[in-house]
Amino acid sequence: MKTKYIIILLVILSLFGVQLETAFASEKVALPIGKQEVEEGNTWMTLEDDAKHFTCPVCDMHHTLEEAKASTVVEGKKYFLCHPAEQAKLRAGASVYLGDHFFVPGNLYSRTHDGATFKDPVNGEIAALNASTIFLSMGHVRYFFTSENTKQQYEQEHVKTSE
Ligand SMILES: [Zn+2]
Repeated sequence: MKTKYIIILLVILSLFGVQLETAFASEKVALPIGKQEVEEGNTWMTLEDDAKHFTCPVCDMHHTLEEAKASTVVEGKKYFLCHPAEQAKLRAGASVYLGDHFFVPGNLYSRTHDGATFKDPVNGEIAALNASTIFLSMGHVRYFFTSENTKQQYEQEHVKTSE
């Protein structure tokens, strides 16, 4: 009788052991293997909902990240694109497409099909973005302001004067 129990116990233990093994094995598979963090060169967030967007350097359009159809790495940075054909264009003309005119917005509040709003980083006001909106470019990031006043204040706090 005793040996019967021992055999049953051993069977249970071995089954449990197998389960543990597979559990660990699947865990190993789930772990990111050789995960490489590549800095993203053209992504940004809307402040309202933390929705990730990208600005296409080839056609200057803003899209949500889900709308990206391709991406490519240029000089160590990953760029999301709206069309696979833009990969070759960007690689061939990186100095043109990623030149001084290229920017991503730094403080857009929301973005819809009708337009976008921004949040002034100094006074917290939310306003509609239009062609006459005052802005300040810091590298490839552009910040929008509700007045010259808040722009100057932000500039004094964030831009190192070379004079
Ligand atoms: Zn594009």
